[in-house]
Amino acid sequence: MKKVLFIDRDGTLVIEPPITYQVDTFEQLEFYPGVMRHLGFIRSNLDFEFALVSNQDGLGKPTYPQERFDAIQRLIMQTLEGEGITFDEIYIDPSTPEENSPNRKPRTGMLGKYIGNPEYDLAGSFVIGDRYTDVELAHNLGCKAILLQKDKSSLHLKSEGGETEVPGLADDCVLATTDWARIAEFLFAGERTAEVHRVTSETDVYVWLCLDGTGTCSIDTGLGFFDHMLEQIGRHGGMDLTIKVKGDLHVDEHHTIEDTAIALGECLYQALGSKRGIERYGFALPMDDCLCQVCLDFGGRPWLVWDAEFHREKIGEMPTEMFLHFFKSLSDNARMNLNIKAEGENEHHKIEGIFKALARALKMAVRRDIYHYQLPSSKGVL
Ligand SMILES: [Mg+2]
Repeated sequence: MKKVLFIDRDGTLVIEPPITYQVDTFEQLEFYPGVMRHLGFIRSNLDFEFALVSNQDGLGKPTYPQERFDAIQRLIMQTLEGEGITFDEIYIDPSTPEENSPNRKPRTGMLGKYIGNPEYDLAGSFVIGDRYTDVELAHNLGCKAILLQKDKSSLHLKSEGGETEVPGLADDCVLATTDWARIAEFLFAGERTAEVHRVTSETDVYVWLCLDGTGTCSIDTGLGFFDHMLEQIGRHGGMDLTIKVKGDLHVDEHHTIEDTAIALGECLYQALGSKRGIERYGFALPMDDCLCQVCLDFGGRPWLVWDAEFHREKIGEMPTEMFLHFFKSLSDNARMNLNIKAEGENEHHKIEGIFKALARALKMAVRRDIYHYQLPSSKGVL
């Protein structure tokens, strides 16, 4: 079945001018940064049909003559075509919002060709656009949306027509970004997420991880200091991380910490998937008064070097003897080589520095480049 990218024009392919929200002159014409390279990559490497879908308010009326639009539209299309970006269909609706045209986005009047047509896989298709109405269009078509905004916050507001909020609209939006490189990566290689739910007689551990996130964390292990350390991994690693643990804390902290490391390590391993295109190695350097160094390799073989001494018995509720155990379990289950060294006086700083350095090392090592999408190994396997 054929898949389609329904692509908006203004605010998506070209910058939408402020005030008029309409490209009236050649001087106003400016392509969206990165669109040439990355949309060109999508066009030549993936099997999507391309459909341009644009509202041009009042087109053909004296205030917005057809000839003015045509000349600029022609230049946009010719420039994109020169970069290998061609469109299978072009749908322009000239109505104003007051006309309530069935063809105006987010309505689907112009897109009858795709709806109910067994040749098309709409669930596997995407609308790419910069407005609420683009996400609504995706909702109405039964496909997913990619929103060219820095986050999804605008989706919780009412639509521009003053209609009521569409329930579940934020769920239809699978990616919000202002970076075309991110869109190409998402469409080409997917988002790297994994989920592990590990239940034993001692603990119930749930971990969800997105390597391509923004550092959003929701962590509750029942151990405040441990939560604080795990948050460093998500925040400083640029990963979204959810960890919920119900452990046998009435016995002690051991199983809770160990089993969280096992599940997190397994989650990292799963989320990395094929490991194609990743940097593989990471390292990080000093933190505050302490020198904390964490080097790692996702080479597939677990190994831990631990060179950090702690003299206090506990920090918060966390026994310092569990630090080594945590990183050993993490290394074993993520199948990574982990080399940790730390020196300094303040023990809180030292362990926090280690977790932050780990996060930075992870961030560097999992970074992925779709333009060099090989396995970083001469052996051909990691
Ligand atoms: Mg737009």
